[in-house]
Amino acid sequence: MTARVLVVDDIIANVKLLEARLSAEYFEVLTALSGKEALDVLAAERVDVVLLDVMMPGMDGFEVCRRIKGATKTMHIPVIMVTALDQPSDKVQGLEVGADDFLTKPVDDIALMTRVKNLARLKTLNDEMIARVATGAEIGVLPNAVAEWAQAETPGRILLVEDQARAANRIVAALGETHGVDVEPEMPAALLRLAETPYDVLIVSLGLSGADGLRLCSQVRSLERTRHLPIIVLVQPGDEARLLRALDMGVNDYAARPIERHELIARTRTQVRRKRYSDYLRDRLDESIELAITDALTGLHNRRYMQRHLDTLVERAKKAGQPLSVLLADIDHFKSINDTFGHGAGDNVLREFAARFRRNIRAIDLACRLGGEEFVIVMPDSDIEMAGQVGERVRACIAAEPFRANAETCLHVTTSVGIATLGGEDDSAEDLMKRADGALYAAKRGGRNRVVADAA
Ligand code: GH3
Ligand code: MG
Ligand code: MG
Repeated sequence: MTARVLVVDDIIANVKLLEARLSAEYFEVLTALSGKEALDVLAAERVDVVLLDVMMPGMDGFEVCRRIKGATKTMHIPVIMVTALDQPSDKVQGLEVGADDFLTKPVDDIALMTRVKNLARLKTLNDEMIARVATGAEIGVLPNAVAEWAQAETPGRILLVEDQARAANRIVAALGETHGVDVEPEMPAALLRLAETPYDVLIVSLGLSGADGLRLCSQVRSLERTRHLPIIVLVQPGDEARLLRALDMGVNDYAARPIERHELIARTRTQVRRKRYSDYLRDRLDESIELAITDALTGLHNRRYMQRHLDTLVERAKKAGQPLSVLLADIDHFKSINDTFGHGAGDNVLREFAARFRRNIRAIDLACRLGGEEFVIVMPDSDIEMAGQVGERVRACIAAEPFRANAETCLHVTTSVGIATLGGEDDSAEDLMKRADGALYAAKRGGRNRVVADAA
């Protein structure tokens, strides 16, 4: 899906010009000739980025921006202010009303594309977060809250690679109010710092004496740890060739010297937010992978995970000629705990059981909840004697101390355990589990609270 850009300008020639350039880059373009019309379009259509002229009769750009950023429905839509002259006061006022970036007329092509792409990307990430909240994936967070995060000032950790002290000091003064800024004049040292500290944004001068900032950018992009780190480069005006190379290698944004303080503040803020959003979404993704392999009640691995791994472990053991054993445990008379004290009490017992279970295994063992009140430990490099010892340890640990089922009730709980070990060449994971199950059944029949080893 391409981004939809709303171009707002009272002069139709300006609108046409921006529309032509953006369409050529495959953006979808909507247009408005006044502030009022812009707000109408925003109320009716999906818009990803607004390009907003400041000087318009009637409602000016500042007022339009203030309204966009003041309404919950539109506050997360990025706004780029287009100023007629390079007026710092316009930028101050723009930042105050919530503008996300600035362009100066006549609009430079590289600047236009870089600004629009960055903010469209930020909007996509923000939309993704809102969508997840709306589908209930993020319980307890309202969509409005996500829209508000988009406006909140987000402090970040910034590494500035700059060897001119005066320029560095000016940048620290501009960004230091909101962010933590470390200055590093040396390139190799910068790379080390990036490896040690989780920075949110890297700002690199392309005018370092005796070093090539572009090389640092390409190293940062190729290292696993830093490949998602947003980069802003500081360039000499007119050095388009190097700027284009930087953008080609994945540098996110740039600022031309002399550095305009408000522009740098706005761009840094955009990149810090972008980093926050993508980190957040990446974490959630890890979490959902985590959920797919873990049992939610006990935190142990689930059946699916065990089934996938048992085959591999069996093959590995056969190849290495090493033993492998499994232990199957089933809580005794668990149904009566549920029936007498309720399901919640049963769940508490299951959690505590899992915790004690986990305490009795080695790091290489795999503990899982198969379902219900059945648990498994897969023990690589363990023969039936060792498995028997672990089984006895688990059984004793469960029986030794009562379980807290709820505030009023402590219960004596026992477990029956079956163990089995891997046999010859054509023994399978499935056969192994079947034998452990047979042994468990024998333990139940034999009176429960005991360990039985498969005889095979
Ligand atoms: P035995 O000693 O023969 O194993 O008897 P038992 O009562 O433990 O065995 P049974 O298989 O008859 O009952 C198991 C019960 O576990 C039935 C089911 O309602 C309950 N159960 C399964 N999953 C859960 C769960 O996630 N939470 C709770 N509280 N109970 C569960
Ligand atoms: Mg049971
Ligand atoms: Mg059972």
